[in-house]
Amino acid sequence: MESDIHTRIWEEIGKAKSCLVVSHVRPDGDAVGALLAMGLGLKTLGKQVQMVLCDGVPGSFKHLEGAADVRNKAQGEFDLVISVDASDLRRIGAALDGYRKPDINIDHHVTNDGFGRINHIQPKAVATSEILAEHLGHWGMQITPGMANALITGILADTLGFRTSNMKPQTLRTAADLMEKGADLPEQYAHALLRRPFTAARYWGQGLSSLQKRDRLVWATLTLADRATCSYPGSDDADLINVISSIDDFDIAMIFVEQKNGTVKVSWRSIPGLDVSRVALGFGGGGHPAAAGADIPGTMQDIKEKVLETTYNMWVSWQGSGQS
Ligand code: AMP
Ligand code: MN
Ligand code: MN
Repeated sequence: MESDIHTRIWEEIGKAKSCLVVSHVRPDGDAVGALLAMGLGLKTLGKQVQMVLCDGVPGSFKHLEGAADVRNKAQGEFDLVISVDASDLRRIGAALDGYRKPDINIDHHVTNDGFGRINHIQPKAVATSEILAEHLGHWGMQITPGMANALITGILADTLGFRTSNMKPQTLRTAADLMEKGADLPEQYAHALLRRPFTAARYWGQGLSSLQKRDRLVWATLTLADRATCSYPGSDDADLINVISSIDDFDIAMIFVEQKNGTVKVSWRSIPGLDVSRVALGFGGGGHPAAAGADIPGTMQDIKEKVLETTYNMWVSWQGSGQS
């Protein structure tokens, strides 16, 4: 079955002349890395390629090869539409407006709903970029140094620098292989995980001053007013969730980020054993057992109340189930 899917993907790519590659809204390092590696790889095969992210490439990944070619909207017709790192169609946002559903859906989210004509979903993969690093060769593409830098970026971003609980020895072998193919590990590590704008550090300050806890749950709030105060240009949490989830003695960390469109973006992080993707799915979102998110319509106060209650109840029942 495994080899069958690779044959199908290889055949689809082989017969396509023009390809559209898309990924998810508010793209992270894995979305950008997988998109660029796939796009650059298809170009090496002589395909006509368009890479589309409806929210564009974030500043920290603009240095990667091919980033300047990424568009906000697709234009023209394509023989093949490929989605990477998106768990459902809504996550792709406006990038596919006016286009058919993806022909090939490559992803590692356990919550992926199989929206593609061909679905290659590997929930054990730490990143979609890891799937591509292992299989681009099976689909006829050689990994160039530019692709290797994009792929190592995706792996670093989703594993927070090789330290998430889903890390496995093979991921390090894959990373070593990417280094041999030209990836600059320290450079991509710095871009993906260390460097941040001054406004983001100030924004963290706003969020950190809002920290609250209940039993082993900890959370922070970021409002539109916080963003205005620090002139932070993004609509995300500037990765503050990674700081909050590093606080000792908590099982679940959450962050609530108010959005201009009347929704609140919620992020969950949990210790191994707890599955927060189920809570996120219940609120229309998705993700992984240890890291999940949702965009929920409503006011900050209302959503905080509902999400905290549901998450707390899930945590209580998990405690009662005797899992460790
Ligand atoms: P985040 O909290 O945005 O860092 O995302 C954590 C994980 O949850 C990532 O794997 C995301 O792809 C996933 N995720 C975040 N927001 C959503 C959403 N609205 N719908 C589905 N999955 C999401
Ligand atoms: Mn992603
Ligand atoms: Mn990913």
